[in-house]
Amino acid sequence: MARAVLHLLDQTPEQLAAWLAERQIPRYRAKQVRHWVLGEAVDGFDQMTDLAKPLRNQLAETFGIWTTQVKAHKESADGTEKLLLELADGHRVECVLLRDDKEHRTACISTQVGCAMGCVFCASGLAGLVRNLTSGEILEELLRLKRLLPGRQRLSHIVVMGMGEPLVNLDRLLPALETATRPDGLGISARRITVSTVGIPKGIRRLADLDCQYHLAVSLHAANDALRNRLVPTNRKIGIAAVLEAADYYFQKTGRRVMFEYVLLAAVNDQPEHARQLVALLKGRPALVNLIPYNPVVGLRYHTPRSTATARFAEILERAGLSVAVRYRKGNRIDAACGQLRRSCVPERS
Ligand code: SAH
Repeated sequence: MARAVLHLLDQTPEQLAAWLAERQIPRYRAKQVRHWVLGEAVDGFDQMTDLAKPLRNQLAETFGIWTTQVKAHKESADGTEKLLLELADGHRVECVLLRDDKEHRTACISTQVGCAMGCVFCASGLAGLVRNLTSGEILEELLRLKRLLPGRQRLSHIVVMGMGEPLVNLDRLLPALETATRPDGLGISARRITVSTVGIPKGIRRLADLDCQYHLAVSLHAANDALRNRLVPTNRKIGIAAVLEAADYYFQKTGRRVMFEYVLLAAVNDQPEHARQLVALLKGRPALVNLIPYNPVVGLRYHTPRSTATARFAEILERAGLSVAVRYRKGNRIDAACGQLRRSCVPERS
């Protein structure tokens, strides 16, 4: 039997229909195949019981449904589950299922193996960027997480906040999200999808111009360029002003309030003066601020602020009229922050 070479999840509905048409098979069969893969997340073509056996065999000779293997599966008491997936070429990425009391079932997905942005407190980029994920691999993360849900439960939300910088891999991320939002895909409304970026103006504008309903989150982490240059090295060639201009453009085009993420690092960016600088920067903007107490990474010398420091920081922002949320640390006992499970399970590649 010929080896499966194409990732089925990389095929657009049109490509799959064209493949069938070349074999004189009615195009509507493509819909059935996609239903089995996206709706049912079946293991293999032999489970596609409404397709004739010869067609199932033909599909299996050409396509593979699953290209990843689950190398680790961790579960924490708060319902968070994390998967370490090994890709066909042996590289590894992580994805997380988050549950909350509002019955949200949120998939947190990666877009790259490693990351080139170099944020100094983040585990994902410590060994640099290895490669972009394909659309099929990104979709496979969603399907692997969906398979963790009991019965016919569906994923309700997606946050693109795993490993990698999504806006430098938009060409592959966008088709995956498009499939996720289609009623005959995963049926997740675009309004329930958040893309988090280190703040790449060109990518933010491109996303804004698509006229879709995705939420945008921008990882700010500092309100002055000197400090941001230190924490987020890619800022040196961008600058906060250009990031905010692009974020304003996103709001104008989409009407979606931009969320600014701010990882709190004890004694580095968590002081009242930093909060006041953040107020000066964001006041008057339709912004939401998400404060994220640092999640310790082995080998890094940053510290999580005391809860009193976090509360004081939040209070300064709130008093100035900003909308603030402190992101609770879900699943921190299972290394659920970006890139941490991968680091604890694999020796870094040289
Ligand atoms: N590259 C994108 C998305 C990936 S990370 C971005 O920069 O937004 C998602 C969020 O987790 C980012 O705000 C990132 O800065 C934050 N993060 C990374 N490492 C962290 C850590 N150790 N503790 C807390 N938050 C962290």
